[in-house]
Amino acid sequence: MQHVTILGSTGSIGVSTLDVIARHPDRYRVYALTAQNRVEELAAQCEQFRPSIAVVGSAEAAQKLESMLRQQGLQTDVAYGTAALCQVASAPECDCVMAAIVGAAGLAPTLAAARAGKKVLLANKEALVMSGPLLMEAVAASGATLMPIDSEHNAIFQCMPAAYHGQDQRSPSQHGIEKILLTASGGPFLHRDINTLDQVTCAEAIAHPKWVMGRKISVDSATMMNKGLEVIEAHWLFGVPASQIEVVIHPQSVVHSMVSYVDGSVLAQLGNPDMRTPIAHAMAYPERIDSGVAPIDLIKIAQLTFQHPDLVRFPCLKLAYDALQAGGSAPAIMNAANEIAVQAFLDGRIGFRVIDQLIARVMAALPSGPVMDIESVFEQDQRARDIANSFI
Ligand code: NAD
Ligand code: MG
Repeated sequence: MQHVTILGSTGSIGVSTLDVIARHPDRYRVYALTAQNRVEELAAQCEQFRPSIAVVGSAEAAQKLESMLRQQGLQTDVAYGTAALCQVASAPECDCVMAAIVGAAGLAPTLAAARAGKKVLLANKEALVMSGPLLMEAVAASGATLMPIDSEHNAIFQCMPAAYHGQDQRSPSQHGIEKILLTASGGPFLHRDINTLDQVTCAEAIAHPKWVMGRKISVDSATMMNKGLEVIEAHWLFGVPASQIEVVIHPQSVVHSMVSYVDGSVLAQLGNPDMRTPIAHAMAYPERIDSGVAPIDLIKIAQLTFQHPDLVRFPCLKLAYDALQAGGSAPAIMNAANEIAVQAFLDGRIGFRVIDQLIARVMAALPSGPVMDIESVFEQDQRARDIANSFI
């Protein structure tokens, strides 16, 4: 029996994780659930999954949740704030942590889980983008297991040589890996007239053609910053340099990524665009369990197409390669500027095209510094947010 903490249980990934858990009550028990402020949904999840503890974002939300749970006759403990998130991510009662909080807010509890040697299921890519070396060091030092949930990285993991899994001392080329082909759907604006991109609405930007996701990652997919974050994520997870990570547009979202080998073999993982597949894979690895996802119907799909990304249409992708090249805190700075820009776009305060312009300006204004410890990462993150807000 695996005892699971789900950080961000009311989100898109959190709900899919609970769906997989509900199919396997013999394998998984929920230890803790967390949400920022959607108390009603969290209370309903507590009713169904009976966690030992539930964590929310504020004292007010905690009070509301506690009274709802007591009315339901549940004994679930209630806590709030970052320290409580870190506590449920590292508690001895839990074996496995789904890191599915969106954005920089997920970094501290994800790092706490890694330091405590947990099996960490990583959806929260921003945490790795911000603090790649620190998170990977923490995993290596504690003997934690890091499993990618992002569909592309989970696909790459599945296509990697078995000997390469885990933190490996040998380089990718010693394993015959030529490059990673990271697929991207291209999002909702792949074919839209580029001159009208400054007029796109929030509703248009979050209407992803293939995936149903949270609002922030949906906007990131529309700008392709999501793919940029994923390039950096792949670099840290698999130890592959930027020059060996190629983004390939694949609008059908059937091939979730590929690994190309020196002998000419290209291995791919295919499936329907449903996050329960990578979640079930990562939870059960090395076993396979039912995820509730139907197998793909290749005859119905009929065609798989591939093309190069257009960096004029998607400047955020180039910014991410630049940040990875610059190293140090540049990815954390870029990530913070992106979070501020996306929120401002969602709030109707800036236009769509201002997102990439704002990130570029923040990156130019704030040179990359060294990533020594988590405090220095948060300091750079805050400075980038302040500069981004001053530009807005
Ligand atoms: P979401 O917005 O649907 O859910 C986010 C969750 O985090 C919610 O439970 C929310 O309560 C919690 N949360 C938000 N702000 C918080 C804060 N400040 N402190 C604590 N908790 C907070 O997001 P999502 O789509 O589920 O994405 C979650 C993460 O997974 C993101 O990093 C995203 O990039 C990654 N991811 C998502 C998908 C997907 O299909 N949705 C795919 C790949 C990767
Ligand atoms: Mg992805």
